Amino acid sequence: MIRRTLITLFIVIIGTSCSYRPHTTSHNDTISATDYYRFDPKPSLHPTKKEKHLIVIDPGHGGKDPGTKSWDKKHLEKNLNLATALMLMDQLDNLGYRSIFTRKNDVFIPLVKRATIANENNGTIFVSIHFNSGLSRKANGVEIFYFPNAMHSRVLASNILSNIITYSAANSRGVKSSRFTVLKKTSMPAVLVEGGFMSNPPEMQKLRDPVYLNIIAWGIAKGIDTYLSEYWNTLQGN
Ligand SMILES: [Zn+2]
Repeated sequence: MIRRTLITLFIVIIGTSCSYRPHTTSHNDTISATDYYRFDPKPSLHPTKKEKHLIVIDPGHGGKDPGTKSWDKKHLEKNLNLATALMLMDQLDNLGYRSIFTRKNDVFIPLVKRATIANENNGTIFVSIHFNSGLSRKANGVEIFYFPNAMHSRVLASNILSNIITYSAANSRGVKSSRFTVLKKTSMPAVLVEGGFMSNPPEMQKLRDPVYLNIIAWGIAKGIDTYLSEYWNTLQGN
């Protein structure tokens, strides 16, 4: 019975991750107990002007790593990630932020390299963009990951999720902790956005619409803006 429960649990966990396909190991890395308890990076800069904030945008997968596919196998996650990332860049620009990319075209970038790009450029925020798939075609909605015990990242994740849900009316799957490599290796508040299920036909239909993708991007941008504004107010004692 226990064994059956564990197998079911395994299927549930694997079945709702965008990484359940051939790139199963590409998000994950090992972590020590010490890492688990010490890791809560804060925004490194305390600028008075938004313009000084640098947002590092990480479109997941790329090149030889396609990520997952749509239910009809016509659309690849890596392309959807990059399209959303480019929209996010515009939205952040509208809000007065600078941004850089870990990739801006269809190339393979190792996970550690993505984090290194963020760290070496002193990014204020790191946001990785992905889309999901599940074994069940009924699985749908948005979920945001942060590193275990990284409370600043958790608050950032909550802000992004609530904004995406507000603007898109998508199903909220909540914020969740995970030890993804890009979350572990980055030295600033970092989140991984799973913006919807490509394995769900109705949700994929929405994701094919640039207007809807732009709404997802706007939710991410507004979530970042809300988080940084509130963090700044906290520092000011407001
Ligand atoms: Zn992915």
